Amino acid sequence: MGGTFDPIHHGHLVAAEEARYALSLEQVLFVPAGRPWQKERHVAPAEERYQMTVLATKDNPAFEVSRTEIDRDGPTYTVDTLRELHAATPGAELFFITGADAILEILSWKDPDEAMELATFVAVTRPGYPLGKLPSRQIVVLEIPALAISSTDIRARVAEGRPIRYLVPDAVAAHIRARDLYRA
Ligand code: NAP
Repeated sequence: MGGTFDPIHHGHLVAAEEARYALSLEQVLFVPAGRPWQKERHVAPAEERYQMTVLATKDNPAFEVSRTEIDRDGPTYTVDTLRELHAATPGAELFFITGADAILEILSWKDPDEAMELATFVAVTRPGYPLGKLPSRQIVVLEIPALAISSTDIRARVAEGRPIRYLVPDAVAAHIRARDLYRA
């Protein structure tokens, strides 16, 4: 499961668990993006986003977190991650789960054809949200009601002093407070 996770929230966790169940996955590997090169806004430091992802996923034995993108130099490309995973787990069937809005942009990513050969892409979205035109190849779409929660809203809430309890795991809320993240 790829994402900036800035910060990770219950929508991501519900989506990961639903994908695990729907696609009979053995494991969901969360891969926080190191340097999301297409983003114009300021993104919290990779190490903070990694720590929050570890805190959020620690209670689920089927969830793991990878440092691969945050430890890799240069801009983050999904195809590099999929190449690495493919080499490290020969014979494993790979799925790349992320937000539908991100997948809509996939043709602008690095080596999209190779990326889609290495993994089945899974676009998670909230019910009723217009999907636009997905690239022609087969992409699995999963509707997740909890994706009404968004990282953008959580960052705005923190900046305005509004509550984020129940939107993110308690340990993530505590980390945001302790590290003074997202304060304007
Ligand atoms: P984004 O543009 O910040 O997010 C687009 C939408 O998708 C937002 O609504 C976002 O909600 C949601 N989303 C993102 N990750 C999600 C997840 N794991 N589960 C559910 N919803 C999710 O997307 P991004 O985080 O930058 O990129 C998503 C993934 O695509 C990352 O792994 C990134 O590395 C990859 N990507 C690769 C390339 C490339 O060139 N290879 C280019 C762009 C993106 P929230 O803000 O609430 O998460």
